[in-house]
Amino acid sequence: MSEYRMWIAGKWVEAESGRRYPVFNPATGEEIAQLPLGDKNDIDKAVAATRKAFPVWSAKPQAERSQIAMKIASLLRENAKEFGRIDTLDHGTPTLRAAPKAAGTAEWFEWAAYNSRSLMGNTVPAGPQELAYLQREPIGVVALITPWNLPLLMIIQKLAPALTLGNTCIIKPPSIDSLAALKLAELLDTLGLPPGTVNVITGPGGTVGEALTTHPGVDMVAFTGSCETGKAIMALASRTVKRLQMELGGKNPVIILDDADVNTAVGAMMMFQFANSGQICAAPGRFFVHEKVYDEFLEKVTAAARKIVVGDPNDEKTQMGPLVSAEHRDKVEGYIQSGIEEGANLVLGGKRPVMPPLNKGYYVMPAIFTDVTPRMKIAREEIFGPVVCIMEKFTSDDRVIEMANDTTFGLTSYIWTRDNARAMRFANKIAAGTVVLNNAGSGGAELPWGGYKESGIGKEGSLYGLYEYTNLKRIQVDLTVRQKP
Ligand code: NDP
Repeated sequence: MSEYRMWIAGKWVEAESGRRYPVFNPATGEEIAQLPLGDKNDIDKAVAATRKAFPVWSAKPQAERSQIAMKIASLLRENAKEFGRIDTLDHGTPTLRAAPKAAGTAEWFEWAAYNSRSLMGNTVPAGPQELAYLQREPIGVVALITPWNLPLLMIIQKLAPALTLGNTCIIKPPSIDSLAALKLAELLDTLGLPPGTVNVITGPGGTVGEALTTHPGVDMVAFTGSCETGKAIMALASRTVKRLQMELGGKNPVIILDDADVNTAVGAMMMFQFANSGQICAAPGRFFVHEKVYDEFLEKVTAAARKIVVGDPNDEKTQMGPLVSAEHRDKVEGYIQSGIEEGANLVLGGKRPVMPPLNKGYYVMPAIFTDVTPRMKIAREEIFGPVVCIMEKFTSDDRVIEMANDTTFGLTSYIWTRDNARAMRFANKIAAGTVVLNNAGSGGAELPWGGYKESGIGKEGSLYGLYEYTNLKRIQVDLTVRQKP
């Protein structure tokens, strides 16, 4: 078992309180590390250091910060295997995917490095005797509060634009999955950044997270997590009117039309549904299947789900590992139970494996519900587990669009049809930040990502994502006022 420290002001430190907390391997339930239990005092220290670093870091030429961003990208690639090992250990990510996933995060720094060098301002035709122009400036101290579902990627998607553009950052990683953040800090520590440019504080959201969102020295909170926590953060951050960027939950509709390529749809959507044990914000939340292809779809989905290899994430053959924690497994099981009680038909799985060694970890076998109706809890709330919810069959395009939009979420959506014009009509009418036609997946650094409705505020990725971490300043000059000779 290892003991870790936090990274504040360029130093490796214990929590001020001296207290620690345990984290566990979700595949075995064994304790794997002790982490410092940060609190408000540690946040005060980190905010002071981050504020001190801001004028130094933000004054560096963009070209220099971009070169550092490129170095971070290289470090992420060089250390992908180690990040992968950590992800398998504390999150349960199958080793098959863990290292490639970590290597993929490098592109976020590369993209930010290139594009932050071309963030040009505009001039505005204010009047013949006036010059008005716009420039983008870093915001200041940014708190990055991130979830456990993809521990490294969720940090990098925020850190890459924020840091490259001249902001200084405090990372509050998920308390149960903080090892990737601490490994990242170890790498950043080799770069000679001004002390306090980036800090990592471990500890629970209720103390560390709240201290950040209420601290007057924090200018912006960039958050990814549940809608519930997002709403709490918005309320807390309103006291000091902080800039917010919010990536929240989803209950994403997948619409399979009568002319869809069912084979391809099942292959793509099932990989996506069960990858990371269903703990993906962009995962399918509700399947709407046209009456004409419903039986074929159900047969193929059931066959595909049966084939998913559930097992020890260290085994190269494993496709689906455990859920992240005992608490989260219990929550997912609670949803399965509510589906049964409300009358949905559980046609596959949903149980814990009974054979050792899997019975020691936090596993739930791939589950499929049919006959899900719109008011059931499993149709309305994000399950965040390996559970397929197939709604009652539909026949009308207009009706299915209405049902797909009948949700408080609006993160992403998937439409399957061979008719492009029909696909476009659906794309225009679906109320979500992303509509994917005839594919799964949610993109890379050059694509904007972010939800409508309660799924979030602002974008990650693309130039829109870079703008999130800047203030737009208007500078206006009256050309009629003569300068002193
Ligand atoms: P949570 O909302 O529970 O936690 C997210 C982060 O917020 C954690 O670091 C957590 O700390 C912290 N936190 C908890 N309470 C507070 C508080 N009162 N004040 C400040 N910070 C707090 O989310 P999960 O970690 O459970 O992640 C799953 C959720 O994330 C899902 O809803 C998923 O849809 C969403 N998500 C959205 C994405 C998107 O792009 N839209 C991408 C990925 C995930 P601690 O760990 O200590 O609890």
